[in-house]
Amino acid sequence: PLVLGIETSCDETGIGIVRGRTLLSNTIASSMDEHARYGGVVPEVAARAHLEALQPAIKAALAEAEVSLADLDAVAVTSGPGLAGALMVGVGAAKALAVSLDKPLYAVNHLVGHIAADILTGDEVEYPTVALLVSGGHTSLLLVRDLVSDVELLGETMDDAAGEAFDKIARILGLPYPGGPEIDKAAADGDPTAIRFPRGLSRASDMAEHRYDFSFSGLKTAVARWVEQREAAGEPVSVSDVAASFREAVVDVLVTKALDACARHGVPRLLLGGGVIANRRLREVALQRAEAAGVAVRIPPLSLCTDNGAMIAALAAELVRTGRPASTLAFGADSTLPVTEIQVAAAR
Ligand code: ATP
Ligand code: MG
Ligand code: FE
Repeated sequence: PLVLGIETSCDETGIGIVRGRTLLSNTIASSMDEHARYGGVVPEVAARAHLEALQPAIKAALAEAEVSLADLDAVAVTSGPGLAGALMVGVGAAKALAVSLDKPLYAVNHLVGHIAADILTGDEVEYPTVALLVSGGHTSLLLVRDLVSDVELLGETMDDAAGEAFDKIARILGLPYPGGPEIDKAAADGDPTAIRFPRGLSRASDMAEHRYDFSFSGLKTAVARWVEQREAAGEPVSVSDVAASFREAVVDVLVTKALDACARHGVPRLLLGGGVIANRRLREVALQRAEAAGVAVRIPPLSLCTDNGAMIAALAAELVRTGRPASTLAFGADSTLPVTEIQVAAAR
């Protein structure tokens, strides 16, 4: 099926068009620059930016895919989770488009969309797989038995998301927003063993209770305190050593828990998704340790890992392919939609 997907859960206005498992276009307009001076995404600013970016993005995506609205078999949209106001813009646009074109509408889960992105790489997808989603808003470990019917949440962050932690530490170190790429750069000439920062929720006692949950706020506090103490003592702070040591702590926890989940559930596959996957050390450590553990790692190209409309279209195309009914119009933006709800408002 030819499906157009609309993604507006955060600061990216993403319009993607797929034909089945084939990617035809993936247009992304980001309002990142507008948020940069606030050091984080401002919900109202994001919502207004979506409103302005949607029409041109849809036009561009159609042109690039060389299809017209009339050709579409279905429209897909992210209904949650994400920023309520931002989601609402996409949901409204998708409903208007579907109704005016008289096409079926599929309202889907953003996080499951991140998993669906992998379909578009063209390689045969195998389930079950463990999936680690790490972005500015999410840190979730999932067990995907079936993309369209069975996604289990194994754990998620109890406080900051991994990308958020990168952004906050960058701020402490005086690096610009978004902090992830800046920390990655600074860490390149640093010593990852210079400072032993805490690995949140990975002591045996924590693991018993929070096996696959994550916590990065303690790490953030530890880095802040370390930097403050050095500065107070008039000692130099090596930004690269702090960046490298911090990055190592985050990566260690993420990869350790993901591979532990693979072993525990007997699943020799790990899919990585979300914007933090851009992190070079994370890819490196994941690939190294997974190989040693006999786990096959899949990392889609970054353009499919960060928020985009193609992954939303891809998920809807799978729903169509497996004969799922379209959504009714009885749904809205759901900022806290649980990952187990792959599609919302499915007609019966
Ligand atoms: P959502 O949580 O809804 O997916 P988001 O826009 O916050 O949305 P992404 O766009 O997927 O998330 O990713 C952005 C985050 O990824 C930012 O927090 C950014 O700092 C982080 N990031 C980007 N590049 C890197 C990197 N090289 N290393 C670490 N973090 C990175
Ligand atoms: Mg983003
Ligand atoms: Fe996302």
